[in-house]
Amino acid sequence: MILGNRSKKSADRRQVDVLVIGGGVTGAGVGFGLAKKGVRVCVIDDTPVVDRASRSNMGLIWVQSKALGIPEYMRWGFNSSRHFPGLIAELEETSGIHIPYNPTGGLIPCVGEEEYGRRAEYIEGLRKEAGDFGYNGTMISRSELEKLLPKISFGDKVCGAAWCEEDGFLEPLKMMFAMRKAMVNLGGTFLPECRAHTIRREGSGYLVTTSRGEIACDKLVLAGGLSNRQLGAWFDLKVPVTPDRAQDLLTERVTDNVLPIPILGLTQTPGGTIMVGYKHEYVGTDTGFTPEAVASEGRWAVSVWPDLAKLRVIRCWSCLRVMPVDGLPIYDTVPGHDNVFVFNCHSAVTLSGIHVATLPDYVLGNGLPEDGKIFSLSRFNKTGAK
Ligand SMILES: Cc1cc2nc3c(=O)[nH]c(=O)nc-3n(C[C@H](O)[C@H](O)[C@H](O)COP(=O)(O)OP(=O)(O)OC[C@H]3O[C@@H](n4cnc5c(N)ncnc54)[C@H](O)[C@@H]3O)c2cc1C
Repeated sequence: MILGNRSKKSADRRQVDVLVIGGGVTGAGVGFGLAKKGVRVCVIDDTPVVDRASRSNMGLIWVQSKALGIPEYMRWGFNSSRHFPGLIAELEETSGIHIPYNPTGGLIPCVGEEEYGRRAEYIEGLRKEAGDFGYNGTMISRSELEKLLPKISFGDKVCGAAWCEEDGFLEPLKMMFAMRKAMVNLGGTFLPECRAHTIRREGSGYLVTTSRGEIACDKLVLAGGLSNRQLGAWFDLKVPVTPDRAQDLLTERVTDNVLPIPILGLTQTPGGTIMVGYKHEYVGTDTGFTPEAVASEGRWAVSVWPDLAKLRVIRCWSCLRVMPVDGLPIYDTVPGHDNVFVFNCHSAVTLSGIHVATLPDYVLGNGLPEDGKIFSLSRFNKTGAK
């Protein structure tokens, strides 16, 4: 158990400047950033369950396909990727935890000319929208793809790929644990196995009752992933996030490092297994598993890389993404509560770079950078429940 010491504690009551509910990659990153600024911060995290997104993701830093029609989000993603070298070095130094981080670039292979054409059009659209900022991605031919991944024999129909050198991958659990530990080493407090039960105003701040006692705070950050829907209810706020089911499969180990560059939906883990998964299903909180879905993912993977069919599948599972209903991040204060913040997003691993760099300042009252301002809750009011 990790426990810092800067929260004032009497009997079973603590007092902190900022309480972050949720110690997943979003909350842990915000906690780390606040501790760096000398804030008395406490992050609490409920008992870990494996289907939480921070414990079941692919660890990709993926910016090349974010997102046509929303140039702010494209810049947000690329800027996040550019923060990683500094962030990883800082986390490793402060936490003592090594985080395997591979800024290798990333690939989206195209199966068939039609798919290649569609992808090329998308990339061209992004390039136009990027304007002076620039879009650092491109389409490559099959032979260029083969040079990047020489140990893969691609399927006959693979005719090229989208390539972006600012994508990459890291070990997401290591990064999350490093964020928590670095925060504690800087004087913050991390309380594991600690569930927030109730929230109410107390004076100019808030009092949160938890499974480990009461915590009073001046500011409160809701970073509970899908549970922000329950946490928001304490403020009569309907947080517009929804579960998005993924179904993944894992093959036996390949001793060689055959996929040094990740493919969207098809990556090699540091242990050597191959992980396949790309489906998005909106079936509520059902974490059931359907063999048909996994079979179709397997068929796609084999169409990209036929030799994959020779490997045994050792595990299949489903888990839930935290998906804002329009797919974009949410960073805002709760209406009527200027000191309560709600943070939700998909791709929170990718966005960790910019989260650590900007969200702590936002919590401290310094606003968001221009691009971040579009991610407010007010966008949902325009159309009701978007
Ligand atoms: C299969 C899959 C693959 C993915 N791949 C990628 C990828 O390659 N790259 C990428 O960038 N993103 C990826 N994602 C998305 C990414 O994992 C999520 O965006 C991210 O994990 C969300 O983190 P979070 O901290 O906001 O939420 P969560 O991971 O849900 O964490 C919330 C935390 O809050 C805690 N909590 C909730 N309620 C309470 C309470 N009442 N009291 C105390 N604690 C509470 C929970 O215990 C949990 O630890 C993937 C997701 C999935 C499911």
